[in-house]
Amino acid sequence: MGTNGNPVSDYDVVIVGAGAAGLNAALLLARARRQVAVVDSGQPRNAPAAHMHGFLTRDGISPADFLEAGRAEVLGYGARLIDGRVDTVAGSAGGSFTVRLGSGETLYARSILVATGLHDELPDVPGVRERWGRDVVHCPYCHGYEFRDQSIGVLGTSPGAVFHAQLIRQWSADVVLFAHTLDLSTEDRDRLEARGVSVVDGPVARVIVDDDAVRGVELAEGATVARSAVFVVPRMVPNDSLLTDLGCAVENGWVSVDRAGATSVPGVYAAGNVTDPRAQVVTAAGVGSAAGFAINLDLVDKDIAGALAAVS
Ligand SMILES: Cc1cc2nc3c(=O)[nH]c(=O)nc-3n(C[C@H](O)[C@H](O)[C@H](O)COP(=O)(O)OP(=O)(O)OC[C@H]3O[C@@H](n4cnc5c(N)ncnc54)[C@H](O)[C@@H]3O)c2cc1C
Repeated sequence: MGTNGNPVSDYDVVIVGAGAAGLNAALLLARARRQVAVVDSGQPRNAPAAHMHGFLTRDGISPADFLEAGRAEVLGYGARLIDGRVDTVAGSAGGSFTVRLGSGETLYARSILVATGLHDELPDVPGVRERWGRDVVHCPYCHGYEFRDQSIGVLGTSPGAVFHAQLIRQWSADVVLFAHTLDLSTEDRDRLEARGVSVVDGPVARVIVDDDAVRGVELAEGATVARSAVFVVPRMVPNDSLLTDLGCAVENGWVSVDRAGATSVPGVYAAGNVTDPRAQVVTAAGVGSAAGFAINLDLVDKDIAGALAAVS
């Protein structure tokens, strides 16, 4: 118990976030016989989707079932999984870290892995939030195949929507870019036409939702265009305040890491969407594994340094 009566525990590694990145790191580290705690607040990014695609051997599984299987594997090797939120992580001069949970519990760790993902700020168009992850989506690699050959709309809520529409044309010959707030250049229009993407000008009023499905897009001037799916470009915002509070260097809005997830702060690692908006589930899991590997090597070095200091 700590002086305030709250529980206190020591770990080799505390991992914040039990998505693919955090859990794969935990699996590697627990199998390396490290004392591991994983704290998770239960909001994985892909939770609104019924199915997860593009992960070899797991294609089509539900995101919840995928994470449940991962949690069971990690628990099987003795890691501790904690449902809760990490409020703060503080480093000490001796190179260890103090992790405070919303519950009041304090964890001490020799290394930290932050795998807290990102959140998608959705365009403020009625119907978008309601259908997000079902038939209003962002990623064609995750959902494009399921909407192949269907009537697809792309909302022009940010300049990236022009290329997004050109990309999504890969999956269907019937793609309409709703210009909405975009001022399309002549070059944009030429490229869209060359790619076989139609353009509908004018602001969008809403995504039409009826009988539990997207049915089309309604323009502010009243016309409607039938569509069975809508793609949007959300603003992706990393959940990185724990890292920036620790002083981790940031470049172009994202915390900088090396290939194994090491940040600029010794002992602090990050993996998955928190540092890489393009990371799919399989990528997040892969970097989580690489980070676990690197963290264990760091700890071996520290173990040796500690043993040498003890005998000198
Ligand atoms: C609608 C949708 C569908 C998608 N479909 C696919 C797909 O089919 N295939 C695919 O490969 N990818 C898909 N993705 C992308 C996928 O969601 C990401 O690749 C994946 O979630 C990244 O894993 P992660 O571990 O980095 O983050 P997450 O899975 O987001 O996990 C982060 C975890 O950290 C926790 N957390 C955050 N802050 C704290 C804190 N302070 N304390 C404790 N816990 C915290 C969160 O609650 C969350 O559980 C989809 C994304 C969306 C939005």
